[in-house]
Amino acid sequence: MPPIYLDNNATTRTDPEVVAAMLPFFGETFGNASSTHAFGAGVATAVKAARGEVKALVGAASDAEIVFTSGGTESDNAAILSALAADPGRDEIVTSAVEHPAVLALLAHLEKTRGTRVTVVGVDRSGRIDIAAYKAALGPRTALATVMWANNETGTIFPVADLAALAHEAGALFHTDAVQAAGRVRIDVASATVDMLSLSGHKFHAPKGVGALYVRKGVPYAPLIRGGRQERGRRAGTENVPGIVGLGRAAALATMRMAAELPRITSLRDRLEAGILATVPAVEVLGDVASRLPGTLAFAFDGLDSEAILFNLEKEGIAASSGSACASGSMEPSHVLKAMAVPPTALEGAIRLCLSRETTDAEIDRVLAVLPPIVRSLQEASPFWQERHGAEAGLPA
Ligand code: PLP
Repeated sequence: MPPIYLDNNATTRTDPEVVAAMLPFFGETFGNASSTHAFGAGVATAVKAARGEVKALVGAASDAEIVFTSGGTESDNAAILSALAADPGRDEIVTSAVEHPAVLALLAHLEKTRGTRVTVVGVDRSGRIDIAAYKAALGPRTALATVMWANNETGTIFPVADLAALAHEAGALFHTDAVQAAGRVRIDVASATVDMLSLSGHKFHAPKGVGALYVRKGVPYAPLIRGGRQERGRRAGTENVPGIVGLGRAAALATMRMAAELPRITSLRDRLEAGILATVPAVEVLGDVASRLPGTLAFAFDGLDSEAILFNLEKEGIAASSGSACASGSMEPSHVLKAMAVPPTALEGAIRLCLSRETTDAEIDRVLAVLPPIVRSLQEASPFWQERHGAEAGLPA
């Protein structure tokens, strides 16, 4: 039986059409985009076309900037540091407790090394940002509010347009980490009025190591990487041309397929969710079920160990992941689920099943056939679980 990949929030397979679009740029079209001779000409045109495809993916105006980067982490770092450089009178940052480490680790570093004041706004039990606290945190010294478009662990989608409007009322810039949203849900930077937006190719079937930062026209931008004049001085270093071309092709494919794929993936996800809820006791769906990414499904199996569930799934050829990040060999509890006040016994049993446009009906059938018995047998074998839930599940004490 072929393996089933349900870890698409970690990374996606590069689409064969994307690979095909990239290949010439390793071969006959190998030139440097900055070269003025014939070898550079086709390359610069291809980079320009990719910029157009990325703009179309996020609904950017034609005069907006798309700065190609090495991925989501670089885009997030670039946006934050650029905003802090924009106005010496504004040196504070507002963010949420559930951001990716690409944001939170940099902010912790800035707090420690530069004394940057960072306000981390909390979320509720469903992972929704506390809007009143966010509003209260914004002030005349806020340089930037940075809140993700959608969360990588729960899929919760944030009200980015409202958050951007509030940041602007306070005179601050607004950045969103849309790494999990771009290519998966419709993004319209024009109507959401975001100033900067990060995206990453490998989350929507482009290769790893390439991404982009959208910068609205008129927003001051200070480059993170200085050197040559590539990217019109916004990001130095010879362009990763095959990667950029791949990103452009993946953006075009996502734009083209979104209308059909969004409802299909949502219905697969909903079928998976309903099937598990109907057959497994003591399980909670994590995140904002009213507003979440179509392909993300996060569960907490209270009283179980996520590693045991994942190990048994893996034995059946199904790859998923836990809500925890594995830091230097030791399992750290997820900061996202902790911020949501998920109790420790549920947090330890959290797993994430993430679909993509490659996920099939047959794969969901197989997961529904395999996962509930795995969970039930772990529950039955666990005295701790039986003590907590045995009676409600009708098991002998
Ligand atoms: N932001 C979010 C929300 C992510 O999920 C990730 C990757 O998992 C990143 C940023 C980092 O992106 P990259 O891997 O392209 O550096």
